Amino acid sequence: MAMEVSNKENEEQIGTEVTPNYRNFPMVPRVIFGNGCFNQLGEILLPKRKSVEAPIIFLIDDVFEGTSLISRVPLFPNDQIIFISAEEEPKTDQVDILVKQVRSEFKELPLGIVGIGGGTLLDLAKAVAIMLNNKGKSEEYQGWDLVKKPSIYHVGIPTISGTGAEVSRTTVLLGPEKKLGINSDYTTFDQVILDPDLTKGVPKEQWFYTGMDCYIHCVESLNGTFLNAFSQSYGEKALELCKDVFLEDLEESESRDKLMMASWHGGMSIAYSQVGVAHAMSYGLSYLLGVRHGIGNCLVFQYLEEFYPEGVALFNKMIEKHNISLPKGVCSDLTDSDFDIMINVALSLEPLWENALGAEWEKHISPEKLKSIYQKI
Ligand code: NAD
Ligand code: ZN
Repeated sequence: MAMEVSNKENEEQIGTEVTPNYRNFPMVPRVIFGNGCFNQLGEILLPKRKSVEAPIIFLIDDVFEGTSLISRVPLFPNDQIIFISAEEEPKTDQVDILVKQVRSEFKELPLGIVGIGGGTLLDLAKAVAIMLNNKGKSEEYQGWDLVKKPSIYHVGIPTISGTGAEVSRTTVLLGPEKKLGINSDYTTFDQVILDPDLTKGVPKEQWFYTGMDCYIHCVESLNGTFLNAFSQSYGEKALELCKDVFLEDLEESESRDKLMMASWHGGMSIAYSQVGVAHAMSYGLSYLLGVRHGIGNCLVFQYLEEFYPEGVALFNKMIEKHNISLPKGVCSDLTDSDFDIMINVALSLEPLWENALGAEWEKHISPEKLKSIYQKI
């Protein structure tokens, strides 16, 4: 999921020609890839340790509490590990509490934040790194380019593949009024560690749902009106890797490697284009019912053959091959006003609709249409 706007921010008149004003995106400046490369975290962090007092804070998915991974975290005496549950998606309040906790426990600003986990932990690490150096509440920064000061040094270490959160310039947070990313040039990680071995313990269904987030990023980017050669080059590679992972019989280690790189390329693809109908509607489900991102996308996507015929056909093959049974009746007890809430959230994500259906998207979609899709879920 990426809450980016089109790569063409606005049109500008130069002489007699109208040329778009292209956006200048940040990328992750340093990345290390390979099985076991997590062991190099200590040497990667060493040059950042310029003070004995200031800690490095490790935000780690609590699924790893008590596992051997924790003994491999290169801790200095003042460092701290904070275990966090990924059962719920990140919230602005949660970010503010973490920032307060870190500020009150340490005299000096941390030297860095290291996020270890899936999209939930990666987004929390990004948001905490931003808020440690910016005033106020994190909800004030949900939107586009509202962050004033650079974040502190932050490192992302994914342990499940698919979201592309490791490369994106957004951190998606549920706030009191909206679920929206803090989209800024300061959000992007300074360092990413891609160690496919870390994804070994992911439960099968979760592997599928988060992997499908990547697949759906590709389908929505490649079929969108914002498509350009930059996005297409990454999107096509990510799609090819997803097909290998979910439709071929790869050896496990090759499958882990390929899905990790698919996630990266899928994230790069949407950075310079946009997602589409499944993501817009999945946001509605998530906002009202707390349905998590990966599964929410799958729940919607299965009914989008009208918009993505080839994509949905392949998705059905993947579901069948891996024996995944998606929950049914998720929206069966909802009231009309519940449907309206989801529809309003979905339709408010204008860039996603514009990407999916073109500049005149409002002529091609209606609240009734969305309701009829939600009712099937
Ligand atoms: P997640 O972080 O929510 O984790 C899903 C489950 O997998 C959790 O139960 C977690 O404990 C478990 N898990 C993770 N790694 C594991 C491992 N190695 N072994 C065993 N269990 C493991 O999953 P996700 O799908 O990666 O992330 C979803 C979140 O990412 C959502 O909050 C969504 O909004 C966000 N997101 C962000 C972006 C972005 O660009 N910033 C893009 C897409 C999604
Ligand atoms: Zn997504």
